[in-house]
Amino acid sequence: MMDANERDCIFCRISRKEAPAEHVYEDETVFVIKDRFPKAPVHLLVIPRKHIARIDVLSSGDDGLIVHLFEVIRIIAATYRLEAGYRIIINSGAEGGQTVSHLHVHMIAGKCLGFREDAVR
Ligand code: AMP
Ligand code: ZN
Repeated sequence: MMDANERDCIFCRISRKEAPAEHVYEDETVFVIKDRFPKAPVHLLVIPRKHIARIDVLSSGDDGLIVHLFEVIRIIAATYRLEAGYRIIINSGAEGGQTVSHLHVHMIAGKCLGFREDAVR
């Protein structure tokens, strides 16, 4: 049975197609959408369908899922021809800048990214 977190979570709702998003990749366990407020010319979110609130609550049972998540990142990098490079970011918790409590990986590319805090703006 679905718990309240899964029922109301925006990324779970997008996964179930109850909320709109621009999907660029989908399979049984992972999907990829365009970020609604892109910080760079390419700003995608790689999201496991399973509701995992944040990276800290991953368990060893999720090992296969995480390996697959990184496979999808490589597929997307190839599809978008990101040979010049890209950045992946996982924000965790409020001070880490996490605003959606469902694990997701940002893929940001299409401009030169420095390492300053404001470099992706
Ligand atoms: P974070 O701050 O790391 O939790 O990232 C959440 C990201 O989700 C932000 O970059 C938002 O712009 C993005 N976002 C929130 N709601 C939606 C949505 N409905 N569709 C697409 N992206 C979204
Ligand atoms: Zn969720």
